[in-house]
Amino acid sequence: MVNLESEITYLPGVGPKRAKVLGDELGIKTFADLLMTFPYKYIDRSKVYRIAEVNTEMPYVQILGKILSFETFEMGPRKERVVAHFTDGHHLMDLTWFNGGRYARTHYKIGKEYVVFGKPTVYNGRINVVHPDMDPADDIQLTGMGMQPYYSLTEKMKKAGFTPRSIERLVRNLCDLLKEPIPETLPETMTSRLHLASRDEALRNIHFPQSAKDLEKARVRLKFEELFYVQLNIVRYVSDNRRKFRGYLFPRIGEKFNGFYYNNLPFPLTGAQKRVVREIWNDMKSGRQMNRLLQGDVGSGKTLVALMSMLIAIDNGFQACIMAPTEILAEQHLQTIQAFLNDMPIRVELLTGIVKGKRRKQVLEELASGQIDILVGTHAVIEDTVQFLHLGMVVVDEQHRFGVAQRAKLWSKSANPPHVLVMTATPIPRTLAMTLYGDLDVSVIDELPPGRKPVQTQHVFDAQLPQLYESIRRQIRMGRQAYIVFPLIEESERIDLKSLEDGYESLKQIFPEFKMSKVHGKIKPKEKEEEMQRFASGETQILVATTVIEVGVNVPNASVMVILDAQRFGLSQLHQLRGRVGRGADQSYCILVTCPQLSADTRKRIDIMCDTNDGFKIAEADLKLRGPGDLEGTQQSGMAFDLKIADIARDGQLVQLAREEAQTVIDADPLLHSDENAVFLRRLYELRKTNVNWSAIS
Ligand code: ADP
Ligand code: MG
Repeated sequence: MVNLESEITYLPGVGPKRAKVLGDELGIKTFADLLMTFPYKYIDRSKVYRIAEVNTEMPYVQILGKILSFETFEMGPRKERVVAHFTDGHHLMDLTWFNGGRYARTHYKIGKEYVVFGKPTVYNGRINVVHPDMDPADDIQLTGMGMQPYYSLTEKMKKAGFTPRSIERLVRNLCDLLKEPIPETLPETMTSRLHLASRDEALRNIHFPQSAKDLEKARVRLKFEELFYVQLNIVRYVSDNRRKFRGYLFPRIGEKFNGFYYNNLPFPLTGAQKRVVREIWNDMKSGRQMNRLLQGDVGSGKTLVALMSMLIAIDNGFQACIMAPTEILAEQHLQTIQAFLNDMPIRVELLTGIVKGKRRKQVLEELASGQIDILVGTHAVIEDTVQFLHLGMVVVDEQHRFGVAQRAKLWSKSANPPHVLVMTATPIPRTLAMTLYGDLDVSVIDELPPGRKPVQTQHVFDAQLPQLYESIRRQIRMGRQAYIVFPLIEESERIDLKSLEDGYESLKQIFPEFKMSKVHGKIKPKEKEEEMQRFASGETQILVATTVIEVGVNVPNASVMVILDAQRFGLSQLHQLRGRVGRGADQSYCILVTCPQLSADTRKRIDIMCDTNDGFKIAEADLKLRGPGDLEGTQQSGMAFDLKIADIARDGQLVQLAREEAQTVIDADPLLHSDENAVFLRRLYELRKTNVNWSAIS
């Protein structure tokens, strides 16, 4: 008996050799694997044309007819062109082979009926198809042939003799072989309520749709199913945790918070900041563990919100910790927090890689004994042997390097899991957040502090650099500071470093009257810190840098951001860099410098940057341009992001629907114990190899 788990070698047409290629190249080992290898496009082959109807505007045509004769033309040493004269019984056309002509001559028979398929051109005044697809007419039922699937092939597969047609034949064999309906993975009540195709129908139709409508129905069903199980996994994980763990209860707003709020706050909170602090406090006094994602554009004032949340923890007798992705940022947080707290009796300490020896030992002891209230560190803090007396609140800054698995590690640091606030300045479109960070509640700071002027963004070409340098000079003379950013991309790191060094030297010639700092990924942390410090204190006027300044750096007096070779940066990187300016009261500028020849995608990126400062718009555009697989952090996010058919960028509504359905299922039956829901458990179990096992993480 064959079934979906059968090895692919049991399929007619697949011997050991082809099985190996399929396995190595596409990971196809079983019938199910082949069935789940979806076509990447379809061509409508329902229409058969007469030669008289064909014109060269048509992208492809299908013609039924016979070969009358072959002709061979020498085209230089060992090169020939083979032409077959072909007729539909009324008119003549040519089929041409520049390669494989010999094969065509011997393989295709004169006088036999073929279906010819390809792109029509005109040569010598006659319709011509170069390298046509040829099928014997009796192999193909022309009526109702519908849409023909096309499958991706790797180079190795092509060498091994696979064509899109041969895969198609294999899938057809498979569908014929599977007499029983393909097992359902969603309950009938759900498929009928949502008007979804059955799994059997969808999987057969995704390969061999009879019409565009069938295809669409199959797609919707398979996309929904895929997204639904991702969401079910997440929603179940959240629900399990809520049941297993209690959150620390922080019912009090005490003297630390109030003292800070009434005496130390240098400016009123924005409305959005107030709302988010309230959302956070509501979590903290709910008895449930907080897992919250705080999204706020660069400069929206997330640090302050984080600090105030930590003060609530301290008021309730707990310690708090804030983690940054780099040492520079950790130190900057330390300074910011110390400056905000000023002389309040709150102990804040730093713990990063550069805190060593005796000093480190002391910090660790004071943490364990509860003398330190706020620990500022890098993400390494959780990897370390760091023990708190009672850690109640953790803030993670710039989450995209900090996945579910890492977050879960925090939980071993105290009896109950601490409240977690994950902050990001990289706005994530809602539907992506729902999937990547689906276990987090979301707060958004959608308002910048008052008085900020939106950064003006301009695009200039390399040739305009001299004028650009003049305007930088004017800005600096007015007391401002400027960033000049060189790209540094890993593969070409050494070349880039050289271009940074060269660039730095020539900038010194261009601006002999100013002082410059220089930072990049290759200098020692201490040196980097000193250079940044020199710039932050205003001792230097220009900071020449690579993208190490991307996140978090805060120098309000800097009003010019020049990004050289901007075509080499992604949208979110450009947006992050731009966020370094516009932090003070002055008008700031971001100048994107590129070469004159730009690809269409680059052009779009640059245009979007010039058009909007809205991080969410930029994130949406980025998702559309790049697709979620490329988004920074999707790999590290801790979630195997292996969607076969759904596309989070385009299928936002289905993501939303899948989430709601999953939530409804879990709300009604959290453990999926009912008979009706057994199908979900079975499927989750099958999928645990490909999906991250959320429950194993906790
Ligand atoms: P983010 O981390 O969200 O990018 P920061 O927390 O670094 O932003 O804040 C950016 C700047 O705005 C800081 O200099 C901060 O002191 C200031 N700031 C924060 N909140 C306010 C506010 N409500 N009013 C005025 N300035 C603010
Ligand atoms: Mg920040």
